[in-house]
Amino acid sequence: MIVPQLDLAQEYQQLRAEIDAAVQRVFLKGAFIDSAENAVLEHELAEYIGAAEVICVNSGTDALLLSLKALGIGAGDDVIVPAFTFFATAEAVSLAGARPCFADCAPGQYNIDASSVGQALTPRTRAVIAVHLFGQPVDLKPLQEFCASHNLWLIEDAAQAIGARYHDQGIGSFGITGAFSFYPTKNLGTYGDGGAIACSDPELASRLRRLRNHGRQDRYQHTEIGFNSRLDELQAAILKVKLAYLDDWNAQRRQLATLYQQALQNTECNWPTVPEGIVPVHHQFVITHPQRDALQLFLAEHNISTAVFYPIPCHLQPAFSESHAGVSLPLAERLADQVLALPIYPALPPEAVRHIGELIQDFEHVEHGKGKSP
Ligand SMILES: *Cc1c(COP(=O)(O)O)cnc(C)c1O
Repeated sequence: MIVPQLDLAQEYQQLRAEIDAAVQRVFLKGAFIDSAENAVLEHELAEYIGAAEVICVNSGTDALLLSLKALGIGAGDDVIVPAFTFFATAEAVSLAGARPCFADCAPGQYNIDASSVGQALTPRTRAVIAVHLFGQPVDLKPLQEFCASHNLWLIEDAAQAIGARYHDQGIGSFGITGAFSFYPTKNLGTYGDGGAIACSDPELASRLRRLRNHGRQDRYQHTEIGFNSRLDELQAAILKVKLAYLDDWNAQRRQLATLYQQALQNTECNWPTVPEGIVPVHHQFVITHPQRDALQLFLAEHNISTAVFYPIPCHLQPAFSESHAGVSLPLAERLADQVLALPIYPALPPEAVRHIGELIQDFEHVEHGKGKSP
């Protein structure tokens, strides 16, 4: 059995008639930027997430960058981010001119630890970015309380978590802004780049709208220096088709995750538990294993594609290692050595999950046998 990490071409085949019709509609109308498809999508996304407004932009990175800019965060400011995340979370802070300060993971979790956030606090801290990594919501309550008591903004990096819920409220609607990515591999992906910002503060939302479009107030007036960060109409039309399937897809991911948990019960694999009140969307199904590299190789030899998210925590990335020399975040560093993302996507057959579970058991038998040999 050959199992890819992901199969986007197969997903297109399933939606082909609808996607082709949406693309045709945009071509025939001849409006490619800032038109009806964006307006409708923004409305539907706001409803879906449970935010007053959604502002579509051209990437998840820009969703974070514009959030920081709109809040006036820049040179001289610090922003606390998890070390164990995709590089873009920290990169956006640097792009805004501020300094990222890295926090460690919670024990047994991939997400940020509220007590490590306290250790990263400086007199210049203005905001905390909570990343709902791999589609599992951060425990937001302690973080919200921390931010409230230190007068900090809470920004959500919900790039991997669209559709996830925390105590029956949509992820992305808790922070002053929630940043989403529609990168093709995300749970809701375009056929290119895309992103969105959820925001329930009307003034901030209008500033975000200006910032994404050259700081434009109206056609001819530019009230500040902004960006060219619009989502094009083609991508908006495609996203609108896919949004209707998102809940079903996320439910399929949850079923596959449950199957993985059953199939891996008697192995050395570990994964974070899901606390009460949290509905994850399993953007990835990531395990830790003490022999990660050997396991990845073994699975590859048996035609199972896996990936390592993320092999280098942000504070050890070459771009940050000099400015953050001496920072030690042991849990993030250990995860980087042990995590392995197993294939998960809505169309993944359940047999594949059982097969992968058996292969991992075989791997452990072989490895244990090696240890016992004379
Ligand atoms: C994908 C991702 C981003 C960046 O999104 P892009 O659309 O690729 O710019 C930011 N943060 C996290 C956690 C992501 O997974």
